[in-house]
Amino acid sequence: MDISQIINELGEDRELYFNAVSPPIYQTSNFAYKTVDALANAFENEFDVFLYSRGNNPTVDILRKKLAALDGAEDCLVFNNGAAATTAAVLSHMKAGDHAVCVRNPYTWVSKLFDNILKRYGVEVSYIDGREIANWEEAIRPNTTFFYLESPNSWDFALQPIAEVAALAKKHQITTLIDNSYCTPLYQRPIEMGIDMAMQTATKYIGGHSDTLGGVLSGSGAAIRKIFDSELMTLGSGIQPFNAWMLIRGLRTLPARLERIHHTTEKVIQFLLQRPEVERIIFPLHPSFPQYELAKQQMRGGAGLMTMVLATRERENIVRFCESLQHIMMAVSWGGHESLVIPKCAGIPKAEFNGDDQEHRYVRLYCGLEEPDYLINDLQQAFDKMKE
Ligand SMILES: *Cc1c(COP(=O)(O)O)cnc(C)c1O
Repeated sequence: MDISQIINELGEDRELYFNAVSPPIYQTSNFAYKTVDALANAFENEFDVFLYSRGNNPTVDILRKKLAALDGAEDCLVFNNGAAATTAAVLSHMKAGDHAVCVRNPYTWVSKLFDNILKRYGVEVSYIDGREIANWEEAIRPNTTFFYLESPNSWDFALQPIAEVAALAKKHQITTLIDNSYCTPLYQRPIEMGIDMAMQTATKYIGGHSDTLGGVLSGSGAAIRKIFDSELMTLGSGIQPFNAWMLIRGLRTLPARLERIHHTTEKVIQFLLQRPEVERIIFPLHPSFPQYELAKQQMRGGAGLMTMVLATRERENIVRFCESLQHIMMAVSWGGHESLVIPKCAGIPKAEFNGDDQEHRYVRLYCGLEEPDYLINDLQQAFDKMKE
């Protein structure tokens, strides 16, 4: 299907609402029924009707249709944030006594889900270096039922050979889930590579303006229905109509924003590589990236997120660089209009900082929608201040 058709038309029936170009926000908690029989049917088939907005809502429904089509999936659910989408997917497919294999250093709240919550319910997890298919194979136990992928990963952007991991999982009847937030389905299509469920945080690129949260989970019709009937309804983690409307609005400009960010990122990388303060950059679609060939194979593009490894061994210099930026803000998250940095050392106790450890010198940079020169000038003056 055509991306423009998905973004501008799919799921929308404008004649239902006065031919308004932008769909209404159906800000309602419940839907009325005329007959007891119709109500009884709604109780039986809540998945297929509008009964109560903890389940289905017409504004959310428009967004669901678009996001499932973008992922090339039969169906999807939209959650209040990305962490909620992951939690629902993992909970729905694991039970006491099961074992999951997960990439090393997944998104923070994924390791908290496995280590703090699921552990209490008798679910085991092994974290592996997911770059090599052999590591996945070796980690499989008789009770392994779940593979968790995140490709590329945040910070070091390690990739997994997605199609190979999916094929291995199928052979062993293991369910696969990937966090596809970095690429979005515009730049990577895991379901077509054989992955069962694709998750992405809509807080980042889909929302695109740092003003709302959301999470997407795509998969087969059967898997999605199962999660709707159980985890989504029970945890009450579905998205609100207003936030869904914000994400429909964000989707309209997603391809244009990604394209612009892609070009800006290329220019910023060229600048960074000329600076002596930068030891190297980590970006999956740069030829210096160790898995560059795999990146080109399974990703159609990469957008604004990269890591700079600063050359200095002093924490003080990293701090001075980050605090000297005049326009690029220091904040978590990414995918919005605004460029951001976040230094790894902010998450490391001061006494434990070790300048010889590359990771401690990581500064993650997200390039937003500003003019490339505006960003480059800001980075330049902050680098200059590092020396003072
Ligand atoms: C932000 C993020 C999430 C979580 O999304 P929320 O919407 O904040 O819950 C998951 N994975 C990645 C890679 C992220 O960057």
